Amino acid sequence: MIKAGILGATGTVGQQLVRMLTDHPQFEIVDVMASERSAGGVYRDVCRWAVSPDIPMTVAGLRVKGLSERTEATVLFSGLPTEAARECEGAYAAAGHVVSSNASAYRMAADVPLLIPEVNPEHVAAIEGQQRERGWRGFIVTNPNCTTIGLAMSLKPLDDRFGVTRVSMVSMQAISGAGYPGVPALDAIDNVVPYIGGEEEKVQSETQKILGAYGDLAFYPSAMAISAQCNRVPTIDGHMECVSLELRDRTATLEDLRAALAGFRGVPQELGLHSAPERPIVVRDEPDRPQPRRDRDTEAGMAAVVGRLRPCPVLDYKYVVLSHNTIRGAAGCAVLNAELLVARGYLG
Ligand code: NAP
Repeated sequence: MIKAGILGATGTVGQQLVRMLTDHPQFEIVDVMASERSAGGVYRDVCRWAVSPDIPMTVAGLRVKGLSERTEATVLFSGLPTEAARECEGAYAAAGHVVSSNASAYRMAADVPLLIPEVNPEHVAAIEGQQRERGWRGFIVTNPNCTTIGLAMSLKPLDDRFGVTRVSMVSMQAISGAGYPGVPALDAIDNVVPYIGGEEEKVQSETQKILGAYGDLAFYPSAMAISAQCNRVPTIDGHMECVSLELRDRTATLEDLRAALAGFRGVPQELGLHSAPERPIVVRDEPDRPQPRRDRDTEAGMAAVVGRLRPCPVLDYKYVVLSHNTIRGAAGCAVLNAELLVARGYLG
């Protein structure tokens, strides 16, 4: 078993990491780490456990460590806020740990893979350059922003088959995307907030990096033009996105697009990785799906659920995509990234 630590283990993403890594066949949780507010306390006492099922007994009694304490973990899964991640993730990698991070601190670095295992597994090749240039014994891989993941997963098969040239996306993002306690109730209930700081820029640049190429020690972002408008809505979990796109191949039919989406499989499915969904993209044909409450847990929260695929009178086609922001959009992607690293011989 590979020893795993969780940074930010008491938070929204950290708790999903605890849930997904408990009873995992390859990883064993040896450390839960959080801020100085929680350090020294027992996990069950300092963590406001909010995911289902109940807090795992193997973790509940662990003493929470601060970031300055030593850890025996080989791999560190990070659910830290950006600033804390910027301060410590590089130091952990320099000290020989493998860091699989949800934070944005290193996502756009020129030598750090921004990975969705079904979409750009070949970007792990950047790890060698990262270690060599920085002199690190360990390394960092990151997963994208929770809003980027559903968009990038759904664009991947369409871009590969038909060439996507322009994209317009409008999101309806769940409250849990802001962590705990997140958006104040008086802002969230009976309301829509048409601004999430930095989110639109992240969705645009991260998607281009993910759908781009890696070679000769550099990332070459996709030239796809992307316009994102991000909104916070009063759902608890599950980010929904309305996407319109223009294709290079103007002969592609609606049925061609549907087949490309529904038939999409990636390296995690080929390798049978533990957390890989059988169907990374699930296409729904009902006129009123996907819906966050009904569809966010599809494939244990690891699928992007696409529906309402139809022609667009302004661009070529449009659809709705839903993904669970704290599972597929965060912890689940970080765990799947680590499983890919094991399969590719970078970890373990
Ligand atoms: P959260 O609920 O606020 O949890 C933050 C965690 O980090 C807590 O465990 C907290 O510990 C710890 N922490 C805070 N400041 C710290 C410090 N200075 N030093 C050490 N530990 C510190 O946030 P979250 O929603 O889980 O998000 C975590 C990260 O994942 C963020 O970078 C976020 O952008 C990213 N992310 C979130 C989502 C999502 O849907 N929520 C999706 C994708 C990515 P204490 O309990 O001790 O304060």
